[in-house]
Amino acid sequence: MSDRSSSGGLAAVLWDMDGTLLDSEKLWDVSLEALAEHLGGTLSTEGREAMVGSNMAHSLTILFDDLGLSYTPADLSTAGDWLRAKTAELFDAGLVWRPGARAALDMVGRSGMPMALVTNTERYLTERALGTLGRDRFGAIVCGDEVKLGKPHPEPYEKAADLLGLRPADCLAIEDSSTGTAAAEAAGATVLVIPCAVPVPAGPRRVQRHSLEGLTLDELRAIWMPR
Ligand SMILES: [Mg+2]
Repeated sequence: MSDRSSSGGLAAVLWDMDGTLLDSEKLWDVSLEALAEHLGGTLSTEGREAMVGSNMAHSLTILFDDLGLSYTPADLSTAGDWLRAKTAELFDAGLVWRPGARAALDMVGRSGMPMALVTNTERYLTERALGTLGRDRFGAIVCGDEVKLGKPHPEPYEKAADLLGLRPADCLAIEDSSTGTAAAEAAGATVLVIPCAVPVPAGPRRVQRHSLEGLTLDELRAIWMPR
């Protein structure tokens, strides 16, 4: 049963996937480094950090630039297919939850508050993660290839809120990256930031927390800021 009327305004939780719910940024580390090697180079730390939270197309341009390689759209497409296959293999071999993530999803789910999954990762790979995450938990799932402009643009969060029949401002987004946080903030949501791979700068509608462990519904309600 929905708890919306008594929640003091917070109507839904919008979850990022990679680095927030799943420790999948480590798997992306492996597949991106393998792709760099396949292309004859080595990915720099700065290059990898610039990709955290980004989508496939943007990450590939960062990678080619980082390796000092020129590229055509066909090169990007071929590299994308390679990266997709390699990452799928790693997702299938074993996804690991971020600390406290499964309990936090269970906790919000039990309250009846709607939840959405909002990821820059494409549907093809997201589908492989939904078995671990539990597809039925989410009232809406928005993937990177289902929007015109991925994070840091607000469109994925706007679309997810819309699919739940809400305004982004009614929602709390939970993110681990600067890119994702910028997207949720631009959409008008409050953001709970739980950094994973890279620190995230502070901001007026951002609250930082070390991990998802011990998170309660009361805390989520208290973090949410009306707009
Ligand atoms: Mg993320």
